[in-house]
Amino acid sequence: MNLVGLCLNLLYPPRCPFCGRVLEAWEEGMCSRCQESLPWLQGAGKTVEFCKVCVSPLWYQDGVRRGMHCYKFWGGQDHARVLGLLMAQCLSDRWGEPMDCITWVPLSAGKLRRRGYDQSRLLALRVGELTGLEVVPTLEKVRETHQQSRIVAHSARRANVAGAYALRESADVEGKRVVLVDDVVTSGSTLEECAACLRMGGAEEVIGLTLARAR
Ligand SMILES: [Zn+2]
Repeated sequence: MNLVGLCLNLLYPPRCPFCGRVLEAWEEGMCSRCQESLPWLQGAGKTVEFCKVCVSPLWYQDGVRRGMHCYKFWGGQDHARVLGLLMAQCLSDRWGEPMDCITWVPLSAGKLRRRGYDQSRLLALRVGELTGLEVVPTLEKVRETHQQSRIVAHSARRANVAGAYALRESADVEGKRVVLVDDVVTSGSTLEECAACLRMGGAEEVIGLTLARAR
């Protein structure tokens, strides 16, 4: 490690993205306690309409919920390195078939301005970096929605996001196999809506990839 790196490390020691503990020298990305205790998701992915499947490495609970909240709202952008790595590993373990490109579920322009960064885009970029797949912006959010996590009924969630996303004019997904990235999948309504836009734009196949899945 060079001198600048060393100083940065002393000033801002790398922390576990899930529990916030400062990492020991031998720990990489996350602490060993979280590595063992996080709710890793086993088995088949979630069924989501217009997607072949939606795969996620973790359940959305406990430390994962805390970590993601921090990542989303407190500027934990650095965490995308580790979180994106978990997603890239999950994609190759659970799906493994060749894909053409990666895209993400976008924030609305207003929300992006307020938050300063789009967490799903950062995750998509990291997954792209690790898998070598091209990361392309294909979707835009054209209508504000209520927060999905506050709505219980699946039909109400569907209605909330109906028509909220559209394919960008510049998007070219014709005949492509697309990985669609988001942070959490709950009912799957948002992914369904975005995947439908991609399929209507001619995408051959869409795979959902999220960091976590809510029960
Ligand atoms: Zn930890």
